[in-house]
Amino acid sequence: MRRVLDRPRRLLVFLWRAAVLLAVVPAAAQTLAPPATGQSLPDVLEAIQRARVTTRILYVTAHPDDESSSVLTYLARGLGADVALLSITRGEGGQNALGPEQGPPLGILRTEELLAATRTYGVRLYYTRAPDFGYSKTSQETLKVWGDTVLDDMVRVIRTFRPQILINAWGNVDVGHGHHQAAGILTPKASELAADPKAFPRQLDEGLKPWRTALLLQETRGGGAGGDSLPVDDVSPLWGKSYREIGLEGFRNHRSQGIAAFLGSPFLRRPVLLRTSNGSRFDPADLARPLMALAAAGLSELPLEKIDRALEQARAAALRLDWAQAVQALAAAGRLASELEGQAQNSGLRWELARVREHIDAALATAAALRIEARADRRELVAGGTFTARAEMRRRPETLGEVNKPSLILPEGWSVTREEADPAGSVRITVAIPKDAKPQHSPDDWMLPFPPPLMMAHVRAMVQGYGFEAIAPVIAQRVTSTHLDTLAPMLAPAVTLALEPRQFVIIEQRPPKTLELLARVRHYGTASAKVTVGVDAPDGWRASPPQGLEFNGAGDQLVRFSVTLPAKVSAGKYSLEAWATLDGEKFRTSLEPLPSLPTYLWSEPSVTRVEAFPVAVPEGLRVGYVAAENDPIPAALVQLGAQRSSSWACRSNCSTRSRWLSAISADLMPSPSASAPTNCAKTWPALTSGCWITPRQAAHSWCSISGKTFGPP
Ligand SMILES: [Zn+2]
Repeated sequence: MRRVLDRPRRLLVFLWRAAVLLAVVPAAAQTLAPPATGQSLPDVLEAIQRARVTTRILYVTAHPDDESSSVLTYLARGLGADVALLSITRGEGGQNALGPEQGPPLGILRTEELLAATRTYGVRLYYTRAPDFGYSKTSQETLKVWGDTVLDDMVRVIRTFRPQILINAWGNVDVGHGHHQAAGILTPKASELAADPKAFPRQLDEGLKPWRTALLLQETRGGGAGGDSLPVDDVSPLWGKSYREIGLEGFRNHRSQGIAAFLGSPFLRRPVLLRTSNGSRFDPADLARPLMALAAAGLSELPLEKIDRALEQARAAALRLDWAQAVQALAAAGRLASELEGQAQNSGLRWELARVREHIDAALATAAALRIEARADRRELVAGGTFTARAEMRRRPETLGEVNKPSLILPEGWSVTREEADPAGSVRITVAIPKDAKPQHSPDDWMLPFPPPLMMAHVRAMVQGYGFEAIAPVIAQRVTSTHLDTLAPMLAPAVTLALEPRQFVIIEQRPPKTLELLARVRHYGTASAKVTVGVDAPDGWRASPPQGLEFNGAGDQLVRFSVTLPAKVSAGKYSLEAWATLDGEKFRTSLEPLPSLPTYLWSEPSVTRVEAFPVAVPEGLRVGYVAAENDPIPAALVQLGAQRSSSWACRSNCSTRSRWLSAISADLMPSPSASAPTNCAKTWPALTSGCWITPRQAAHSWCSISGKTFGPP
């Protein structure tokens, strides 16, 4: 499905690593898949069904949109299995059909899309740290780039989630994208290593246990290879749609991959078969084993039967809309599971029973329609400041006994300075943030779609002596006349600076006299503040002097800077670094909304890169360039002094391009794809006498046409 273009990045400097470290994203904890529509009757029935099934299934792919949405939806919503999708990469190496984001910001966009998709499928979502580095021709190349970390990460996900079944979505695939092939090769290896008590001992030191997956399945695409097909076109008795239809509703979230055009494609309606990796049949009942299956692991049958009977009673009561009875039966099941957990002989069984209880508690909160919501009065919170949050909860009447008042789970060192309850049951909580507050990250955050939320709201309820909790991330809201955005509160620097432009490309032989910069300076504190802003330039360059700004609370201001260049600038890379000071503290990063997803903020160093090239560009040189979407290269070519004949957004194959290109009159044709010269030159006869430049060579291998030399002398 995936269309990937090896993008020319030679002239555009992304501060990828720095940007990844500084990424500021809203968070969604890796909790159970949330109910589809809220806390409706089908949601309750589905949650009860999930508590009666003990099978966990991990489905492994290489990229967002590789997944078979109908299979995931059927396993999770049809059978009630606890299903997780492991996407080895975040898809940041592909083309962006939605906006200008490339690299890590595109990874954020795709994470958000896949998270939305998996919520519709009803599954959890995990990642590894392996990069999506664009199209890869072979698995060998991919495995080399991904290195040892990818297996370490896959094993960690397996030992964390403990699936009884692994589905290798790219098993035995030896053509096409190298990432797909590599995912198919790595999945059985990771399965073996997860069970090996000698593999990745650091994980074991941290408390994870070796885990043996009982069954390794692989998906076969397009039939032919045999296997069992799943009834994904059956209509769900709860949701009144087929699992394929529900799955496709989730799949359409892959907007940055231009998925809308493929939704009618037969590819998405193909039968998908599952088989074991050696081709033998498997028992489809393995996909959803009941609670009684835990007896085989060493638990006595009687208490398991009692739990299951209580869950059956809860289901029957819910179908009668007798919510009080449903909640009591669920609480009885929770109490039994909790007792059994206390008696269990080994940590493995205790872990299994904790999962059962987790599912029962989720069903309880859904049946009682217990919901907690807490809204902070703003999104960007600053060290040393305060904010208030309003927490409220609701529930179905007469289902629960005692319910504690809502409270917040805050980062270490943050303190509640005031708490006011109003008669309607909501609580207004004022929180002080310590002066030395820092964003908190834990080492395994990469595994989750986004880092855990900064703060959670929490309420504890009792039913006939059984206590359970409802928990939800604290949110902030931004309201305009046409939009209501839900945002994740974050700890922001007191001041941030965004510089424009991000890059200058100049010619060594004739540098411009000055470069003009524009800085947008944001102040996030609520008190008034005096901020000084300046730009650091290389030796011999002269930036205009620092400027003072006054803020009356939070807001932003624009500042112009002018940088005077020396008469001679040698070829090389330079940087212009903006800074701001407030109360003796220096700030050097931006914090800006992603253009295609403005509810997300992206942070990177406030730096403009300057690249000087020793290029001999003849007067009036015309350049034809086949541009990708949001391609920065045409602007860089113009900065170099070339006249741009035209540019094209090209998303089709070589033969289609040749029709357009016959109309071009260009002296020089940089190729957007490294493979283009060999693959496309044959079909572009008009250009075979010209000169190809591939992005990977562009900086050092310019060439000669008709006696004129382009590039380093
Ligand atoms: Zn893919």
